[in-house]
This record gives sequence, C-alpha cells and structure tokens, in this order.
Amino acid sequence: MSALMNKVLVVGMDGLRFDRLQALGAPVLAALMAAGAYGTSRLPYGEAGTPRTESPGEVVPKTPEPGDGGRVIRSRTDSGPGWSSIATGAWPDKHGVVDNGFAAPNFQKFPDFLTRAKNARPELATAAFFSWAALDEHGAFSRAIDHRLVLDGYTVGWAAADRQVAEAAERHLATADPDALFVYLGDTDEVAHDLGPHCPEYLAALATQDAYLGRLLAAIRGRATYPGERWTVLVTTDHGHVDAGGHGGTTDEERTVFVIASRLDADLGGRVLAGPRLVDVGPTALAALGVEVDPGWDLDGVPLAL
Ligand SMILES: [Zn+2]
Repeated sequence: MSALMNKVLVVGMDGLRFDRLQALGAPVLAALMAAGAYGTSRLPYGEAGTPRTESPGEVVPKTPEPGDGGRVIRSRTDSGPGWSSIATGAWPDKHGVVDNGFAAPNFQKFPDFLTRAKNARPELATAAFFSWAALDEHGAFSRAIDHRLVLDGYTVGWAAADRQVAEAAERHLATADPDALFVYLGDTDEVAHDLGPHCPEYLAALATQDAYLGRLLAAIRGRATYPGERWTVLVTTDHGHVDAGGHGGTTDEERTVFVIASRLDADLGGRVLAGPRLVDVGPTALAALGVEVDPGWDLDGVPLAL
C-alpha cells in the first residue's frame, strides 16, 4: 500500500463571530466541527479608545494570552493584522502589519505558509484565491504561489467576489492537482460592518459561505485521486465584530477568533482544542504537508495536535 498524498485546504471567512456561527447554525461548518476539532482564542492585540474605523493603530492594551510570551503587541483587531498572522504564523510585531495600512510589512522574513511550503518542497503545487486585493498588493500571500486568483471586492462587490472565488477554487480542485490552497471569503465582514452580526443579512452571508465551503469539500471528495489523498481542512477568521458592527478595538467580541481543523479521512470526534490561535494555522498546514517548521523561522505558532 502506498502512502497517502498529504493535502491542505485553508478557508478564511472574514469577520465571522464564532458565537454567531454557533447560534445561527451552518450545516457544513457544523459537520466539519462534529467530525473535526475546533476552539477559540482571543487575539493578543487590539486598540483601545479609538473609533472602529480603518485609521492607523496607536495604543494596544496588554492582555496576556497563553503562548504570546508576555509581549506587548501593538495592533488593531483588523483584517490586515489578522490575515497576515494567519498567513505567516507570526504576530503583528513580527510581520509588521498592525492595521489595514500595511505601512511596514516584513513578509521577506515572514512569508506566507504556501510560500514556505513551496520553498521547502518545490514539487508542491500551491494556490490562493482571494478578493481582498491588499493581501496581494502588500505581499501577505506572495506571488511565488503557483496559481492565484486576486479580485478586488471593493469594485466587484463582496458577495459577487466570494462567488467567483469559490467557483474558481472549486474548479481548480476538480481539474488541477493542488497540494495546498488558501480560499478567502469576505462578505460576512462586509455585512457586519453595514448592519452588525445580529441581522438576517449576516445569517444569509454565513449560509452562502457555508454552502461555498460545502462545494469545495464536494470537489475534493469528487477528485478521481481522492482515495489516495489525505486532506486536512482548516477554517478560520481574522477578527470578530462588536454587536453594532465594526472592529479594531479590544472587546472580547472583536478579539475572539476560532480555528476549525478537520481531516477528511478521519473522525476527530468534535474535540475542543485548547485556545487555537491564528498563528497556529500556518504551522498546522505545513505540518499536515509534512513540512517541518524550522525554529530559525522565529514563528509564534505551532502545529495544532489533531
Ligand atoms: Zn472588517
């Protein structure tokens, strides 16, 4: 019997509050959790006392979190820092993105996990699909990724962009042979900014993204080579939202994030993970691919025990 091919799908859903996800229900995510492992943690940063807008960060309170080494991390709870931490496996004081301005990113030293995987094993095929163009413009996900779809949600519209992202990723899973993928869906954040996370529109955006995730999983299970593959699927978010909509600050509603980890070939029993962090996502993806994290990389994250 030959060894299974290790493959990884990471799906990011922007501004998805875990308590709202649980309250509203989303069948695909619920099934992934039931057969996987999941948990929440609080971002070890946030900016107190400033408007929840896109303005640059200034003040960050110190709220110690397990594993952050007692550092003071100055950053807003915004998408730039969140996705950069997910991509790199390091916190904002290392990758340098502390708000959505991307003034001083350090992605040369802290590249994204897809680029790390490619550097370690050039034979791996990597792919990324996202509609927040800033992640491409500033290099949070690098141009060394083999197959990329970069849309601008601000011009395309976030719901339409999500649909295009999901369709492109679904097609790629069905017709190509990627080993590691990142797929970004953004409408949950957009709706929460407009209306808050307690409205029917937020439920609708979540339901749509949940259905897109279902299509991606169906595409994986439909691959002719699927019986010889071992897929790890990770789902996460970059930050939460206050009840009225908006983020950047220090409330639990803004700082609470989640990681769902699943192995499609194995039942992990719906185990609750102890405080999985955004910086653990990249190392977990690398571990699933069999790429060892080098201590010299100075990452903050560690592979989650699945
Ligand atoms: Zn946002």
